[in-house]
Parts: sequence; structure tokens; C-alpha cells
Amino acid sequence: MIILAGEYVERLICEDRTSDVTFLEKDQGDAYTALNDGNDCSGVSCPGTLHVSQRMQEVDVSTIGKPGDRVRVIVSPDDVQGGAHKSGSSRSAGVPARGYVLRNGRWEDAPVQIVPVRDELYSRTRGLLETDVLSDSSVFIVGLGSGGSYITWELAKLGIMNFTLMDHDRLEVANVVRHMAGVSDVGRRKTKVMTDMIHDKNPYANVRTHETKVSWDNIDALREIIRASDLVIVALDNREGRVIMNKVCVEENTPCVFAGAFQRAHGGQVLRVRPGESPCYQCFLEALPRQAGDQEVSNPQQAQRLAYSDRPVAVEAGLSTDIAAISLMVVKLAIQQLLAGKPTTLRSLDEDLVAPWYFWLNRREAGTEYEDLQPLEFNIDGMTVLRWYGISLDRNPACPCCGDFVGRVAVEQGVEVSSDEAAFFGEPETAS
Ligand SMILES: [Zn+2]
Repeated sequence: MIILAGEYVERLICEDRTSDVTFLEKDQGDAYTALNDGNDCSGVSCPGTLHVSQRMQEVDVSTIGKPGDRVRVIVSPDDVQGGAHKSGSSRSAGVPARGYVLRNGRWEDAPVQIVPVRDELYSRTRGLLETDVLSDSSVFIVGLGSGGSYITWELAKLGIMNFTLMDHDRLEVANVVRHMAGVSDVGRRKTKVMTDMIHDKNPYANVRTHETKVSWDNIDALREIIRASDLVIVALDNREGRVIMNKVCVEENTPCVFAGAFQRAHGGQVLRVRPGESPCYQCFLEALPRQAGDQEVSNPQQAQRLAYSDRPVAVEAGLSTDIAAISLMVVKLAIQQLLAGKPTTLRSLDEDLVAPWYFWLNRREAGTEYEDLQPLEFNIDGMTVLRWYGISLDRNPACPCCGDFVGRVAVEQGVEVSSDEAAFFGEPETAS
């Protein structure tokens, strides 16, 4: 069976041209996937084609008889009834096409199916999420480690058309068992790997990438991206980065969701910040007890900072499953946030997901305060593992980020503060 993207075939017919296309060969020719038009794709997905990776072998199907030809499809516009090809993409499913596959030196007939890819992609979510309901949404994801890659991959399935990804890192072998990417991606930028993954789920999505670290030095660039985004996902493993993202999101009035795993991913928490409505990350930090264990240890530098004995602290282990459990809540909150004011049958979840702060335990980790929790069993009352808890948290009126920090201090100290000084004091301290 040869399956072609209807949008691609339709475009060829409308433009009245033939095209040298290549297929990606997989399984020693058992399957040809990802149609690529050499004319204008140059390895990047474009409307009407499926993405094809440059690194993988492509099979030329442009000329009959040429060595290496394996598949040929002939679509005849003359056979199209009543100009059907000029209408919507789903109509091209009716365009007759003949296919041939070269087997043992002979061209044999092969059935061809022309699929309106864009319609078909979301056929199993229709009724819950209409194909285009999130198509004008823009999401900015910062941090593409284990959690960030999972969140990105889930969001790519929703029909969101605009992604901006930021991460300075390259994939290492040790990342593979927790990351969406595999061994074949080791050495690549995480941004580029996730771009391919988004396009594999939605070849029509626009993806912009930034191979840089979140820092006070690039705050202007961050601000520009955040201003243009409907939602920001912060999946960073360091507190300073989160503080920076929080500050800019609050200033730009852009909702953002923070995700973090506890040590060894024995649990995690998710904070949704709706500027002006709910507490921000800085409010959250100030509500935490000192030395709160919300710091993930995912690299040797962080482990070193936390080392309190003469023995080095190992980089924290954590299971992909445990990180995915936490990441799923981020995705759910993201969906509800992006659907705000749009038609959906998922509206009832808005009443469930009202808390600013969510808390999850993957297990009763020895050495933590949750060690002695009741086992889940049939427990429906007390606190147990493997359940989400929504926690109420008030905005801090004196929050240095979203509150009137300077005003409060001034009132306490009985001094007047000029607006210049207020702006200076507005800068939150970085993480200690
Ligand atoms: Zn705040």
C-alpha cells in the first residue's frame, strides 16, 4: 500500500506540474514513509508533505528505470471529476492514482491511497478537540530534558501550530532512558531533536528554536518570545532560570506552568501561574519552608552544591515513568489554559483544575516525610501516593515579583520611595 499526503498531491495537480519526490525507506523496503518534495522542502517539513530526516536513506522514485527506483506513483489530473481537486484537501482523497513498486527487477502494481493528512491526523481527537481549535496557539517551552521533552511531545499531538523551544544542551547517552529521544540522537541539540519529533506528529507545525540558556543576559530576547506566546512551559532544573522566567511572564502577563521533580523523582509539583490572578513562582518560593527539597539534582554541578559530606553526591536517578506522571499534569493544565474562551467539551475540567499548585507522590520514598503514609490499597481518605493533590496558595501581597514589595516595605519602614527606586527593588534576588 502506498499512502500519499492528499494536500501534496492536490498542490501538484493545482500547480500542473510533476515532481521529483523521494520516500524514506524503512525496514529494507518493506515500507516507504515520509514523502519529500526535493523542490521546496530541503529536508524541512512543509505543508502537504511529511517530514523527512536528512540523515536517513532516501529512495529516489523520480524516473522509471533509474537504478535505485523502488516506488512510482502516477496521479492523473485528467481523471479528476468536476474539478474536485480545486476544493478542500479532503477531496483529493478521491483522486485516482496508480502505484508501482519495483520487486525483483519487475514493476508491480501497488494500491495507492491518498489521505488528507491534516484532516486525518486529528480524526481521533475530534469531538474533544476540534482540528483547528488550537491551531493559532503559540507555546514556548523552556528546558527540553526528560520532563520538557515529554511535555513537548504530548503538546505536539494537539494541533498546536506554533512552538518555540529553548535549551542549550545536547543529548547525552545517559539522557536516553528518560528522554523522548533515542541513542541515534546522541550528540544532537535537544531543540533539534524535539523539532523533528514535533514534525513527526504534526508536519504543519512551525517550530523556532533557541540553543541558549535562560539567564539575566538574554532577558530581552526572552521577553520578546514570551510576549508573543499564549503559554509558557518552564521545565528547567535550576531555580535561577525559573525565577527569571517567572519575572518576565508576570511582567508580560503571559500564563506559565512550572514543573519540577523531587529528588530521585519520588514525587513532583506543578505550579500554574496566571499573572494577576494566581500566586507566581516567587510567591510560591516564599511560602516554602527554608531548605525545601524542591531542587532536582540532575547534573554534577548541582550535586556538588548540595554535597554536605566528604562523599560526592551522585546525580539523581529517576525513572522516566515517574517524570512522565508529573509531566502529564503540565500537559493537562496547558490544554485547559490554551482552550480558555474556545469551544470545547473539556470545559468541565476547568472546575476541577482550579488550584495554583499541584502535588504528586510516585512512591513512599524512604527517608522522606512520606515514608510512613498509608499504602494506596483501597484507601480513599488519607493522603496516598499516585494521586494529584491541588493545594491552595495565596498571592503574597509583598511578593517582589507580582506584589507590591517596595510599597509594603516602605509602609513598614515609614519611608517614601521614588519610582526609580521602586523599579530597582522590583528585581528579585536570584536563587541561593
Ligand atoms: Zn508573586
